[in-house]
Amino acid sequence: MLPSPPAREGQLGFLYCPPYRVQGISVAGEQTVVQVPELDVCFDMGQCTRASLSASVVALSHAHMDHIGGLPYWFSQRHFQKIGAETHQPDTGQPAVRGSVGKCVCHPELEAPLRAMLRAWEPLERQRTPSEIIPLAPESEFQIKNNISLRAIETSHTVPSLGFAAVERRSKLKEEYRDVPQDRLRELRHAGTEITSLVEIPLVAYTGDTEPGEFLVRNEFAKAKIVIVECTFFEPEHRARASTGKHIHVEDLVRLLHVWEAESVVIVHASRRTTIPYARERLQKLCGEHLPRVHLLMDHRMNRMRYEAQVAAAQALVAEREATLAPPAPQALPAAPDLDEQSSGAESTP
Ligand SMILES: [Zn+2]
Ligand SMILES: [Zn+2]
Repeated sequence: MLPSPPAREGQLGFLYCPPYRVQGISVAGEQTVVQVPELDVCFDMGQCTRASLSASVVALSHAHMDHIGGLPYWFSQRHFQKIGAETHQPDTGQPAVRGSVGKCVCHPELEAPLRAMLRAWEPLERQRTPSEIIPLAPESEFQIKNNISLRAIETSHTVPSLGFAAVERRSKLKEEYRDVPQDRLRELRHAGTEITSLVEIPLVAYTGDTEPGEFLVRNEFAKAKIVIVECTFFEPEHRARASTGKHIHVEDLVRLLHVWEAESVVIVHASRRTTIPYARERLQKLCGEHLPRVHLLMDHRMNRMRYEAQVAAAQALVAEREATLAPPAPQALPAAPDLDEQSSGAESTP
């Protein structure tokens, strides 16, 4: 008898929730890395996937090993592969090519230990990897795009922890000017009248590891277009384990679904003992009318079928437009990530 080859290692979970991709790997206690490429952010870095190197910011929810294990490697690989490299003018005297330094935003209590961890690598590697650790106090923000910031929201886990919400600010015409004609609006603006006000739109919210709490019904979660939520336990008899470990149980999640208006609720951090078919079965039983907007990041089979249906619908739309001779709108969907991602352990689907 020959020894059998090792089990095939896990692939990235992938969901397209227009206009955002949510991709990564997440198994409780093993690793969690959830990337939203359109926001240039990775929530947590439990494992440094190849795809995650393209993000320039890691938003770290807390420092349990399954969320932080890939962080030094991520900094190092981004530097080694010169990710985000810019070419500088030769007359500046700077090196011609330099990678952009990865940034990690974290709970302020983690700043010093994270810096110490990164320093500890220096004598081992005999070199210094550039890194940027940015403490983010609860309620403060870190800008990730022109008008989009990442807000830190304090959560409740067994160690200092944060959730995050990517919040967009848009200027919106004030209600009282809604029916005013364009040229009159222009006059008002020239005369210095404030005709617009800033509105805040939560785009993507991430709970990190946490027990349920008031913070999860704040506007950033209630109004977000996508909520990425940890849900570690699905078995009815595991309620006590969820509260001891300060995690969300599927029964807590179901209550939150009534509050969250999100078009997509993406579940991460299911435990390995929970098979995907069992998690799916529990969701089908408990979610009721909310079921169509609830997804398991690691349910590769369902998510692949969903993506194929999205591609087919996009193609049908193009065909329909062509048939009516209207100029076709660009319909390219973002591609699914490289499925050969090396990783350990996302194969919880039997
Ligand atoms: Zn965890
Ligand atoms: Zn944890």
